[in-house]
Amino acid sequence: MVWEPLNLTQVCPAHTQQTACSPFGYVLLNFITQLFGDSVDRRVQESLRKLDNGDSENCNQNYTCYGDGYTESYERERDDYDFIVVGAGAAGCVVTNRLVENNYKVLLLEAGDEQPDITLVPGLSTSFLGSNIDWQYYTAPNGKSCLGREGQRCSWPRGKTMGGSSSINSMSYYVSHLPYIDRPSFMMTKAFTERGIPLADFNGANQFATMQGQTFTLHGERISANYAYIQPIRYKRKNLTVKVKSEVTKVLIDENKRAYGVIYEKNGRRYTAVAKNEVIVSGGAINSPKLLMLSGIGPKSHLESLGIHSIANLDVGYNLHDHVTFNGYAIHLPKGNSTLVDEKTIINDILDYKLGKVKNGPISGNGAVNSIAFIKTEPYLPAEDIQYQCYNVILKEYLSNPALYESISTYPTPYYDAIVPRTMNVAPESRGRLYLNKTNPNGYPYIYPNYLDKKEDFVPIIKGVKFLLSLENTKAFKDMGAYFSREKLPGCKEYEWGSDEYTVCLTRTYTSSPYHPVGTCKMGPVGDKTAVVDPRLRVYGVANLRVIDASIMPVVYERAIYYDRRKRG
Ligand SMILES: Cc1cc2nc3c(=O)[nH]c(=O)nc-3n(C[C@H](O)[C@H](O)[C@H](O)COP(=O)(O)OP(=O)(O)OC[C@H]3O[C@@H](n4cnc5c(N)ncnc54)[C@H](O)[C@@H]3O)c2cc1C
Repeated sequence: MVWEPLNLTQVCPAHTQQTACSPFGYVLLNFITQLFGDSVDRRVQESLRKLDNGDSENCNQNYTCYGDGYTESYERERDDYDFIVVGAGAAGCVVTNRLVENNYKVLLLEAGDEQPDITLVPGLSTSFLGSNIDWQYYTAPNGKSCLGREGQRCSWPRGKTMGGSSSINSMSYYVSHLPYIDRPSFMMTKAFTERGIPLADFNGANQFATMQGQTFTLHGERISANYAYIQPIRYKRKNLTVKVKSEVTKVLIDENKRAYGVIYEKNGRRYTAVAKNEVIVSGGAINSPKLLMLSGIGPKSHLESLGIHSIANLDVGYNLHDHVTFNGYAIHLPKGNSTLVDEKTIINDILDYKLGKVKNGPISGNGAVNSIAFIKTEPYLPAEDIQYQCYNVILKEYLSNPALYESISTYPTPYYDAIVPRTMNVAPESRGRLYLNKTNPNGYPYIYPNYLDKKEDFVPIIKGVKFLLSLENTKAFKDMGAYFSREKLPGCKEYEWGSDEYTVCLTRTYTSSPYHPVGTCKMGPVGDKTAVVDPRLRVYGVANLRVIDASIMPVVYERAIYYDRRKRG
């Protein structure tokens, strides 16, 4: 199987009431692994291998030959390409497609494996977290945030597969609506409109709006950057070579400070690949700064303290930031209006999805996640500063241990009896930093987002929560019998429910990320001493090297960030 799920035996404590850890939870995970654990690309490659008659002039001991003229070079110590693209994520897939279209010879290196079929299924999206297609990063504690999480560390999933995080994210924004939207989701949108937020497209000119968010899906399946930009050309264009399970560990830079290739590791072996034109780094906001630093580009003192020769002294890793939110206020949906069903129905829904030609049942939906609204907490602000985005839960299990509940997120998203609307500060002021791992620079980096360092970050959250709680008086809520659960969460019980102090406590204790980190290879004009890349995304001080992913954003956008930035890449 290409997909290996979260290991429940490792994460489930003994004697827990969480359904995800029950015998049904184990059966369910095993069931979806059997149904969706393989990858369409693996199957295509297998059938092409069978078709191959060995006549291709490119076939020799250094190449695997496929039918349709497709070849994938491997086990060569040295290859020559026009461009090498590091990371097949949201940005890397787009830029690769454009270069190949322009007849350049491109090597695309991806650390993860092929994109497994499970990533196509909207209703199973939370089960990707903690699995083998997630880098499974965690933040370092700062004593002001994530206090209720294990070790005071928040989880920071990142996609490790073809398509990168676009293969595991919540799909909000683009192309088309999900075919299945449930009643509680519509309740949220109606309640927001009753309170004065226009029902409109927040991706349009005016962001002050609410709607069921658009998603990058088609016919009930996710369209990742891999599906949109690589698959259509991968087995047709001879000038494209894709290598999965190939992690780049260093950009090669000559004595004239010119990038000319990379070193990467595949199946325990090291390889060198050479690029005539450029090396393009698109490993994402965590791995791109890590790779630059491993290659000698970064803060001189930090690199030298780790024995890395400094080539360009730049502020790589600084300016790390993210939208910030918390989980904690839960809207209870009484029986009849909850979407919970029995175990047999869940299994049947999943089978219907798998076998059905038209994928428009519950599993083609993503729960309440796309019930989204934006507001300005003060009229004079230049842009909306709060986004509401919903998370859905089984209330009793969630309230008993919110942190544990969130860490074992394998239950399908369409089934729930409570919505946890997240009041998200989309213009945070706190800034953190990313460092290389002190004991093993190649290992997991030290991720210090420094959430909620600045007290100002609470101001919009407190105002946004007041607005949120007022939704309880809307007709939309009353019609559904929905109300905010008054049960206080562990760690914040000494505060009055709904008070500012309670909100601050929830935010510090159950800090949460929408997983939009940016800023670690900041773009800026000549003269900006903190910039790592110029406005054309070229690394300052090193020729033939660009960074083109989310790490280059100087400031996080106010909305979902995937496609907006991708166009620049
Ligand atoms: C769980 C989750 C939910 C999200 N929800 C949304 C949403 O609903 N809407 C939205 O707009 N955004 C969402 N995002 C954010 C969005 O997906 C990211 O901002 C976007 O994918 C970032 O693109 P990128 O190209 O910078 O990095 P990525 O898409 O993360 O791609 C980086 C790629 O590089 C590979 N790589 C890294 N290091 C190396 C190396 N050394 N060698 C080779 N390959 C390497 C990685 O494996 C990965 O495939 C979400 C993110 C997550 C994780």
